[in-house]
Amino acid sequence: LFISFEGVDGVGKSTQVERLKDYLETLGRTVVVTREPGGTALGSQIRYLLLHGGDVAPRAEALLYAADRAHHVATKIRPALERGEVVISDRYIDSSLAYQAGGRELTQMQVRELSQFATDNLWPVRTYLLDMSFEQSRMRLTGKPDRLESAGSEFFIRARQAFLDIAQAEPERCCIVDASQSIEDVWSAIKDDVEGLLS
Ligand code: C5P
Repeated sequence: LFISFEGVDGVGKSTQVERLKDYLETLGRTVVVTREPGGTALGSQIRYLLLHGGDVAPRAEALLYAADRAHHVATKIRPALERGEVVISDRYIDSSLAYQAGGRELTQMQVRELSQFATDNLWPVRTYLLDMSFEQSRMRLTGKPDRLESAGSEFFIRARQAFLDIAQAEPERCCIVDASQSIEDVWSAIKDDVEGLLS
């Protein structure tokens, strides 16, 4: 069972990822929690380059995310799935579609093809899109913004819309959750859906 969480920065993905992990473990499942970029040792180095490496041309950026993802899928996600474990990834392909295509100059089709190549077409069974307005998500971010978090608001508004467009186009995979609710209410929406997935 492969599940991803998506949404712009500050919507509370990591909190819900941990909730879901704890819940699935109480059901006796072995759960691998991972993230992009940076779910592997190589990925951590790519993450550092992406977040702190200075200016990156859009195609180079898309390729770095794809390289992170290719290695992540090959060395961590697929092996865990083959062992019958649950994999929960904090970000996956939709983040590239939203940020590298929705926010920057590449097309959805280019980024989709690149991701399909990188993953050999591995898609999550369920993707939770945590959605809230830019103002709300920005208020939740603490600490000093990194290079990407300090990008302009228009970038994130476009990315949020891209996430919503993807999720609406693929309702069988994607579940949109109103992340402006309390942590408990967000979790109960996710839990209800997961129970349906497991039954
Ligand atoms: O979610 P996390 O904080 O780990 O993401 C790190 C940064 O990378 C965020 O600012 C996010 O917006 C950005 N990112 C991106 N494209 C992706 C994945 C993450 O621009 N495909």
